Amino acid sequence: MKTIGLLGGMSWESSLEYYRLINQNVSKVLGGLHSAKIILNSIDFAPIEQLQHKGDWEEMAVILSREAQSIESAGADFLLICTNTMHKIASEIEKSIKIPLLHIADATAEALIREGIKTVGLLGTAFTMEQDFYKVRLSKNHGLNVIVPNERDRQTVHGVIYQELCLGKIETASKIKYLRIIDMLAKQGAEAVILGCTEIGMLVSQSDTEVKLFDTTVVHAEKAVELALS
Ligand code: GLU
Repeated sequence: MKTIGLLGGMSWESSLEYYRLINQNVSKVLGGLHSAKIILNSIDFAPIEQLQHKGDWEEMAVILSREAQSIESAGADFLLICTNTMHKIASEIEKSIKIPLLHIADATAEALIREGIKTVGLLGTAFTMEQDFYKVRLSKNHGLNVIVPNERDRQTVHGVIYQELCLGKIETASKIKYLRIIDMLAKQGAEAVILGCTEIGMLVSQSDTEVKLFDTTVVHAEKAVELALS
């Protein structure tokens, strides 16, 4: 079994999900007392969040590259960055290490294509929904059409992530807002919706809606186990 490197803490609420899902999937495949071999480097999210909102991605690339190198030195065979947003600097992090990076958007696109999805809605932070690094990877590299909510709804989705989900707060009012936005994306032609922020699965799940959901945390964790056991 290969050792999975997790660059987490962004937020720790979703890193906990990664840890649980990866171990559960390994146990499902190997049975008995088997569990995953994981090196988790969980960093302090507060300074990262400040740099995000200042737009200082260069400084974040320096910090996260250093943290990724420590995961590599500790013996991980490959790396997962446990947040969609920080994939904005995935190529800088990738360049700083020798082990492969399992990109969250590639794992998600693969899952969508397997299900025959061509047009997909995307929920995530404003960075993920509005900037090119994620949407363009899905469209250019994987041929998917990506739809995002309107500006007001993007603000709602973004606000709930930072003010509630990353703090472990699950509010029914926010869940209702998210479900309305998911419905709207489906009405605009989305055949499925990507939960493109690793905390959204804490708020909405497949049983809440008829619209097919792809939870990036689940997909990424599954792909990691597949790779670890291959
Ligand atoms: N975990 C989130 C994501 O998947 C948001 C927190 C962050 O900005 O890293 O994008």
